[in-house]
Amino acid sequence: MKFADCYAPGRFGLSMELFPPKTPKGMDALMRHVQRLMDFAPDIVTCTYGAGGSTRDRTLEVAQRVHRRFGVSVAAHLTLVGSTVEQLRSFLREAWERGIENIVALRGDPPRDQQDFRPVPGGLRYANELVELIRREFPQFGVAVAGYPETHQEAPSPEADLQNLLRKVQAGADVVITQLFYDNQDFFRFRQRAGEVGVRVPIVPGLLPILNLAQVKRITSLCGAKLPQELIEQMGRYEDGSPEQFRLGVEFAARQVQELVDQGVPGLHFYVLNRSEATSAILSQVKLPRAGAKPSP
Ligand SMILES: Cc1cc2nc3c(=O)[nH]c(=O)nc-3n(C[C@H](O)[C@H](O)[C@H](O)COP(=O)(O)OP(=O)(O)OC[C@H]3O[C@@H](n4cnc5c(N)ncnc54)[C@H](O)[C@@H]3O)c2cc1C
Repeated sequence: MKFADCYAPGRFGLSMELFPPKTPKGMDALMRHVQRLMDFAPDIVTCTYGAGGSTRDRTLEVAQRVHRRFGVSVAAHLTLVGSTVEQLRSFLREAWERGIENIVALRGDPPRDQQDFRPVPGGLRYANELVELIRREFPQFGVAVAGYPETHQEAPSPEADLQNLLRKVQAGADVVITQLFYDNQDFFRFRQRAGEVGVRVPIVPGLLPILNLAQVKRITSLCGAKLPQELIEQMGRYEDGSPEQFRLGVEFAARQVQELVDQGVPGLHFYVLNRSEATSAILSQVKLPRAGAKPSP
């Protein structure tokens, strides 16, 4: 299944995002978690591409393994960091040969010691150029791109960021998957404004439940997403990673997801962080407009 079919009008799509584990033990654990997530019948499982292109082969390996083992459609993320156009082509060729039908096309972040993103000689500058490359030379792939309800950190203004999103869509992206966010109003405003500038493809909310305060603070400090203060205060009364933090995080996420579903999102994209417990708990609590989304009791 390609992204466009997954989130097509009249259907409710579900995608889940993994990252490549560093060790064989991590890979075995990941496969056990993915097995549990299959109870919720995700349409597409995606695997991230590490900073600096460090996980090129493991991204492809995880996506292929999940596809072969569980028969689910998959996507490989791909960034421009550290790659020439020839290396991007070689990744795309290999992805297709391995049965990967979808690409999440991204620019990537600059390395930590660099302020700005600088393409390598013979590389590309912005994600819209990667979408153009895929559409020109590998039109068989489904393509998703990133969107930012709270505006990308480097963008000079929300308007400029939306114009840049539009470039990616005009270059041929099938869907937009958003950066994580915790205030649904940010998402609804973003969706409205994206529509007003001419973004006509499905915009899918990206969700990262807050289960461990320290971990989420680290992640949001990197991407700039606002944290929900009331929840953070409640969670702050408990130890990081405690069952109480987990319960509070799941309850919050379930409410967030239910509101998104009730407001007609085309589907959901979960940043599952290679675990199944939270996503399973949330999906068991919400009422989704799709058949086969819940395991039988
Ligand atoms: C769903 C999702 C998945 C992700 N997966 C990964 C992953 O696997 N690996 C990883 O390293 N990172 C990942 N990221 C993070 C992403 O790489 C960073 O947010 C990165 O900083 C921007 O990537 P982008 O594709 O949005 O870039 P772009 O769309 O290229 O935008 C980058 C910045 O440049 C501006 N811009 C864009 N196009 C133009 C243009 N033509 N002219 C002028 N300005 C422009 C934009 O407004 C923005 O400020 C993911 C993010 C999301 C939301």
